[in-house]
Amino acid sequence: MSPVLSMSPVSGATRVAGVIGDPVTHSLSPILHNAAFAALGLDWVSVPFPVAAGKGAQALEAMRTLGFAGLSVTTPHKDAVAQAADEVSDAVEALGAANCLVRLADARIRAENTDGDGFLGGLTADSDVTVQGRTVVVLGAGGAARAIARACAQAGASQVLVVNRTAQRAEVCAGLAGSVGAVAEPADISDADIVVNATTVGMGADRGLPCDPALLHRGQIVVDIVYNPLETPWLAAARAQGIEAFNGLAMLVHQAAVAITHWTGRPAPVAAMTSALRTRLN
Ligand code: NAP
Repeated sequence: MSPVLSMSPVSGATRVAGVIGDPVTHSLSPILHNAAFAALGLDWVSVPFPVAAGKGAQALEAMRTLGFAGLSVTTPHKDAVAQAADEVSDAVEALGAANCLVRLADARIRAENTDGDGFLGGLTADSDVTVQGRTVVVLGAGGAARAIARACAQAGASQVLVVNRTAQRAEVCAGLAGSVGAVAEPADISDADIVVNATTVGMGADRGLPCDPALLHRGQIVVDIVYNPLETPWLAAARAQGIEAFNGLAMLVHQAAVAITHWTGRPAPVAAMTSALRTRLN
């Protein structure tokens, strides 16, 4: 039986969490959250809430009024909720964006960004490798890339090199990695220990490549944080060269796992969450 099906029936005592976004119908967050609540034996439920663009701050107020325990936050509300929260984590302060809202004991709402820790947790779960002392190339400079660049620097990467189409955004992203961050060129990709695609290239029906696969080589670790499709053309090209290459599923699970811990104060049941996600995707 799937962990989602073993969820207890909703009662007056059930605590509500969820995900806000636009669109949100296809979000995998409720699957992950409900699997975690079931595995932890908690009378909690997670529900997707479609919230139109421009209404993120109002959704945060609704969370406060309705007493929701926590919300995951996806596009296009990540910046708005970071501004509207009562307090923010260091990551949110630096990134200006949040993907997780936590109701504190005094009913104040704290904004967190779990993408950076989710990336690091996912990388180690997949590859048994950490970024410490390693050169990481981040392709892209959007919200996810910025969280990853900052987290890699904080976790001790020796260099965080950012390659992005738009130079000005690459500079902002590299700046988040502090003294180990720098803007780089595609040619620098060959020098990396770990190469991360954090662009939207390869997502959905896009068959594009975020960089020329000829710049990759064996011995590197390649991560494509895109998880739809599970194997992007870039990931397939890396694997065809015998390179260790991982998709975005582990990051997705681990960023949700960090949110579960923020909400419940309990270690997240990562194995149960992964299993529920795989069941859903299969
Ligand atoms: P975003 O903020 O919109 O950033 C998109 C990035 O992709 C920008 O750097 C943009 O470059 C680049 N880009 C877009 N089209 C491009 C093209 N044709 N050629 C080169 N670069 C291009 O997006 P995001 O929120 O960071 O998300 C990025 C991806 O990560 C999405 O696929 C998302 O689903 C995935 N993601 C996965 C997880 C996970 O848990 N696995 C978590 C978060 C995000 P410019 O700066 O030049 O516009």
